[in-house]
Amino acid sequence: MSVFRRLGRIIFESPGSAELSLAQWHALKRQVPLMYAMLLANMIILAATHFSSAPKYLTVLVPVVFTLLCGARILRWARGDGTTITPGQARRDIKAMVVMGPVIAVGFAGWALSLYPYGDALQQSHIAFFMAVTTIGCMFCLLNVRKAAVAIGACVLIPFTVFFILTGQPVFVAIALNMVLVTATLTTILLDNYRDFTGLVASRQEMALKQEETQHLLDENHRLAWLDSLTGVPNRRSFQKELARALDEAKAKGRTIAVARLNLDRFKAVNEIFGQIAGDRVLIEIAQRIDVNRPFSSFLARLDSDNFAVILTENSTGPNLERLGQRLCDAIARPIKLPSGTAHVTASMGVAASGPEDTPETLFDHADYAGLLAKRDARGGTMVFSAIDAHDLRQIRRMEHLLHTADLDEEIYIVLQPQFDIAIGETTGFEVLARWRSPVLGEVSPAEFIPMAERLGQIGRITQIVLRKALAISEKLPRRMRLSVNLSANDIGSPAAIDAVIAQVEAAPRPSRVDFEITETAIMRDLDQAREALSRLLSLGARIALDDFGTGHSSLTHVQRLPLHRIKIDRSFVAEVTSDPTSRAIVKTMVDLCRNLGMSCVFEGIETEAQLEALAGLGGTVMQGYLFGRPMMPEMALAHAEKSDAGWRPERNQRFGAAS
Ligand code: C2E
Ligand code: CA
Ligand code: CA
Repeated sequence: MSVFRRLGRIIFESPGSAELSLAQWHALKRQVPLMYAMLLANMIILAATHFSSAPKYLTVLVPVVFTLLCGARILRWARGDGTTITPGQARRDIKAMVVMGPVIAVGFAGWALSLYPYGDALQQSHIAFFMAVTTIGCMFCLLNVRKAAVAIGACVLIPFTVFFILTGQPVFVAIALNMVLVTATLTTILLDNYRDFTGLVASRQEMALKQEETQHLLDENHRLAWLDSLTGVPNRRSFQKELARALDEAKAKGRTIAVARLNLDRFKAVNEIFGQIAGDRVLIEIAQRIDVNRPFSSFLARLDSDNFAVILTENSTGPNLERLGQRLCDAIARPIKLPSGTAHVTASMGVAASGPEDTPETLFDHADYAGLLAKRDARGGTMVFSAIDAHDLRQIRRMEHLLHTADLDEEIYIVLQPQFDIAIGETTGFEVLARWRSPVLGEVSPAEFIPMAERLGQIGRITQIVLRKALAISEKLPRRMRLSVNLSANDIGSPAAIDAVIAQVEAAPRPSRVDFEITETAIMRDLDQAREALSRLLSLGARIALDDFGTGHSSLTHVQRLPLHRIKIDRSFVAEVTSDPTSRAIVKTMVDLCRNLGMSCVFEGIETEAQLEALAGLGGTVMQGYLFGRPMMPEMALAHAEKSDAGWRPERNQRFGAAS
């Protein structure tokens, strides 16, 4: 009973997975035509052995009908190569096979048995043999679709056994029993085989899935490694690889390529005003605009935050580069709509064409330098790297190399510039300024080597040397005088640099009389870090001055919230105070501002008496400039300090109400 139930379950089981259906279909496609061919051949042979004894409709007509039917099935399965078959179609074909197979089997069995009455014992044995062998052959051909195999087996075996047992002939009864045993054995083997087959398909499917997963991971890795996750354009790594490849190719073909460097102007402000998420949107939009406007053959990458680069492999000559630069800068400058407003962003672009000697590094360096020049001299526009730039850049690189290898302890020295308080008519202190005397280059201006040292990461060492030399001098100065040492934005931004400054000041005899000057840039880079650094410096008893006030972008709120003692008004305002009413008005506002905030106010770069008079008239008191003394060697400064009112004539002091 349970055997029948099992067979029934097999026959009515639902179709397997898509992969199994496809695999079965492909097996059927190979085996079904063979099966029908075998069936037809056996049928013709059986019809032939009964041709003379049985009626013609049985030996000719029925075989012709079967031949047409089986021929149609053979054609049906043989057509096409099966590459485009879908799981749905495969299932439909298998279902048709499962239905058609038993129907045809019953037809053949009925036909064969209907010949029985017309033959002698030998012919009847042929019928039994035909049915047994053909059934076994068909089941074998349908090995991979057990439903069809079992159905056919059952459809033939049952009438076969019943029929031959009923004949009462011992030989036929024996044949029927043989047939039952063989079919049962065959079915067992078939079911085992089918299990292996489905297992194989399942493991193949699992393997394909794993392969797909691995491919997906590989793709994802590739994306992470080579594409910028925010904008989706290639990243710095891709850029470097592509630049090396494009340059090699260009050299081999005797052609040139160009590299364009785009840096957004004041992108930080966009982040501050609209927030980080909007800032990201802006970057995505900019990447798209560059992408749309760049030449088709070029290569775009985002190098980092607001830095993009384009490699141009065609039309890389001067005028073309300028035109392209203009097009890209114009596209970027179009307003960008954001949920919380409209952002206006511009980009400065530097572009350089390759020369025969260029390496990827030098070419990029040239574009980078042109980008810096664009930032400085053509904000929002393009600069093409020229022969003059190449000369300048060589000088800079040489200087960088010399600075890098310099014996800084030996070569850096300090000069002191007096700061004079006209209210009391005395020099109250000196600003400490660094100088570099290179054995190769001679005297180098700090305006050149300080930014260079910041770039090269050497400013910390220079600060240390300047501070050490300043502390040594401060001990020799009259007690009422203080020294003011400049700190770079990099110093303020680095807790380690501040630690080193504090360690030096603490190691010097106390109380120290060293103050510090910091720039707006230092504060704006990281407000929290700046506040932390300032409070640590204050704990030394140092005073803090905000340098170059008016030239940066610090907001009043920031200035107000920081523990500052003085503000140094930049030279540019002083230079125009006598000629420009606006500058005068600004200076007046600054003086009032300092007074309101309880800070002192120092004017820088006073060169003429007219400037001094104008500033004094506006309420300024502490003055620094060539009029009061140029930066001088420490020995001179000490002598100057002895007569603290030197550099200024007493009668003038009296005019401004100071004691002489
Ligand atoms: P700064 O801190 O604004 O220094 C004032 C600059 O103005 C000095 O130039 C000084 O010589 C110059 N100066 C002073 N009075 C006058 C004047 O009446 N007319 C004119 N035309 N210029 C005047 P210097 O020494 O060339 O320094 C340039 C800049 O280099 C400094 O500007 C400062 O930013 C930086 N620097 C100098 N020494 C150091 C240092 O030890 N550390 C750091 N971090 N930066 C330094
Ligand atoms: Ca300064
Ligand atoms: Ca200054």
